[in-house]
Amino acid sequence: MKRITMVVAMKQEAAPLIEKLGLTETNDTNPLLPCKTFAGEYKNLSINLITNGSDSVHGVENVGTQPATLAAYEALRLLSPELVINAGTCGGFSDKGSKIGDVYIGERIRFFDRRIPMGDHYEAYGDGNFQCEVAVDLARKLDLPTSIVCTGNSLDMSPTDEAILRQEPMVNKEMEAAAIAWVASHYQTPMVAVKSVTDLMDSKHGTAEEFASNLALASRNLQEEVLRLLDLLARQ
Ligand code: SAH
Repeated sequence: MKRITMVVAMKQEAAPLIEKLGLTETNDTNPLLPCKTFAGEYKNLSINLITNGSDSVHGVENVGTQPATLAAYEALRLLSPELVINAGTCGGFSDKGSKIGDVYIGERIRFFDRRIPMGDHYEAYGDGNFQCEVAVDLARKLDLPTSIVCTGNSLDMSPTDEAILRQEPMVNKEMEAAAIAWVASHYQTPMVAVKSVTDLMDSKHGTAEEFASNLALASRNLQEEVLRLLDLLARQ
């Protein structure tokens, strides 16, 4: 049976997937850590799902690269999946053709806010740029668009960030994928980032309010496309 682990940042993003797949909570990780784990079976697939959990001090969902690194590390170490799926939400640019609720697969995953101008090697290290060959093949079979998934630790966007993001042809901005890709690369495990657009970063509405009003719709679309992906994986 193929072992698949989904790494999902927020419980709101994970909820439709947990419900649709009938996953149950498993408490696999160290109880000192905030991560939450769920498991179940779908067709011939063994599915685990890990979320970042919530912050005990501030009561919000843990988002960003350090909780994503922790969750990915726990998942890869404990569950040894054959494939990691990072399902989540993201921002897109409407003038590059993105619409709210569109779902993309990452063909390459990079950091956009780790600028280390200390020579070519540090610059390349900062950007990350993890190629996702397996994901590109799956996207083609699912007829889903691909994008460059760009990870940073802010929901808003500085002018420098925007200039870097805009250099990429098709781009989705989010806060976890490159951290997960970095961990997966150590375990030599392929990764598929599936990202659903909650906000258009060039719209006149603020990113935070667009995110909040579109999170449920984007999470539903995410669930539908992840199910199509699992159906495909179950046939392979
Ligand atoms: N304001 C929200 C916090 C969302 S943080 C709240 O109070 O619930 C944003 C989360 O969604 C991150 O996990 C990130 O991966 C994703 N995301 C969606 N749109 C984003 C964008 N435009 N920029 C960065 N991350 C985004």
